[in-house]
Amino acid sequence: MFHSTNHNTPDVGFKEAILRGQAPDKGLYMLDEIETLSQEEIYSFQSLPLNELGFIVLSNIVRESIPKETFKEIVTDALNFEVPINKITDYDHICYLDNGPTCSFKDFGARTLARVMQYFLEQDDENIIILTATSGDTGGAVAQAFYEMDRIQIVVLYPKHEISDLQRKQMTTLGKNVAAIGIQGKFDDCQRFVKKAFADPDLSHLKLSSANSINFGRLLPQTLYYFWSYSRVVQEKGEEVVFSVPSGNFGNLMGGLIAYKMGLPVKKFIAAVNENDEFPNFLQTGTYEKVEPSKNCISNAMNVGHPSNLARLIDLYGGHIDEKGNIHKRPNMEEIRKDIVSYSISDEETKETIKNAYIRYEEILEPHGAVGWAALQHYRKDNPAHNKIKSITFETADPAKFPDEIIELIDIIPKTPSSLEIIQNREEIPNPTEIENYDDFKAFLEQNY
Ligand SMILES: *Cc1c(COP(=O)(O)O)cnc(C)c1O
Repeated sequence: MFHSTNHNTPDVGFKEAILRGQAPDKGLYMLDEIETLSQEEIYSFQSLPLNELGFIVLSNIVRESIPKETFKEIVTDALNFEVPINKITDYDHICYLDNGPTCSFKDFGARTLARVMQYFLEQDDENIIILTATSGDTGGAVAQAFYEMDRIQIVVLYPKHEISDLQRKQMTTLGKNVAAIGIQGKFDDCQRFVKKAFADPDLSHLKLSSANSINFGRLLPQTLYYFWSYSRVVQEKGEEVVFSVPSGNFGNLMGGLIAYKMGLPVKKFIAAVNENDEFPNFLQTGTYEKVEPSKNCISNAMNVGHPSNLARLIDLYGGHIDEKGNIHKRPNMEEIRKDIVSYSISDEETKETIKNAYIRYEEILEPHGAVGWAALQHYRKDNPAHNKIKSITFETADPAKFPDEIIELIDIIPKTPSSLEIIQNREEIPNPTEIENYDDFKAFLEQNY
């Protein structure tokens, strides 16, 4: 069962948590209990392909909600790309989460959620409309993941002048069940329209849902690359590792924490953030203050000044924080500090890291992965006693998505993966309508769905 982190609404099962996205009391759905796997089983994952490992781990949560055979097909179909791991030094590894169709780690969550939702809707003979506001990466991953799911309509709002051509094309070249609408304005305007639509009684006849990382379905598959990379790196049963996790909304880190509660042996999680440093400050002082407005850093998918998944993290450690950032019950800070350390990395250091990783290891990092790699260097320096503990840093996007920075810093044109090349050469579908304010958006929804 799942409870809301705000504790003001009844518990629900897996299916309802997925279809609702957010809990009615504005909390996030979180597992009541997390079942552990044995160390033998976790160690044995080293001989399993990703889909089989994924099926075993996730069945622990999905249980009887989806028949086993069907669920196995869903996992196999969703995670149909490679998750390579590279040994950079004797102890440090990079695991690449960027080989999915939109070259972002968000493909894991979006592709799995799309298929799980489609299954539940078929079962109920229902249809839904998913509204998503995006500052860039989420929109593309969601649009591509839900494309041609015949029970789901996707409406993505993006700020016309604030995303890259490639990011836009990942949404606007699809058509069919995907409507991508660029608006004059900022990401915050997009998000405001979406939130208003959810609360609008005139639209209550439409079945609206969300696919951002408040949806638990996005977190589920994000536990898997922790088990996967762990099993590929360790040599002994029960061996502990350190994970460095580029973090914005903390969905990525939550995947890891759930894996840890399932029994994965972890020495430390490094929550690597950019100049939006609300979390490292919180760990240090115990006082939570969001960064408002959030800072614009080159690792732009991590420009979050008030991470929504913090509600789940604090819940996991026995506390309660509401959606506005007020702490009602303090979590066990000692436990949190034992498990997690956090470093804030400036843009300047991110750039230096991209340069140094190339000079030292011929490793081409992009800004998000570079924040993770830089945070690991801090951890290594601060913990010499742990220097023989293996580490895994996640690279969350492909460098080809940030060609200008890479060319400027290391004078190399990153190789464009074929999935991005295909999108670059596709025709765009023009905006279905001009949307300048909420009323335009509402009219669009009423006329089309
Ligand atoms: C979304 C994103 C992140 C941060 O993940 P969270 O789950 O929001 O913490 C990191 N890197 C990339 C490339 C992303 O798109």
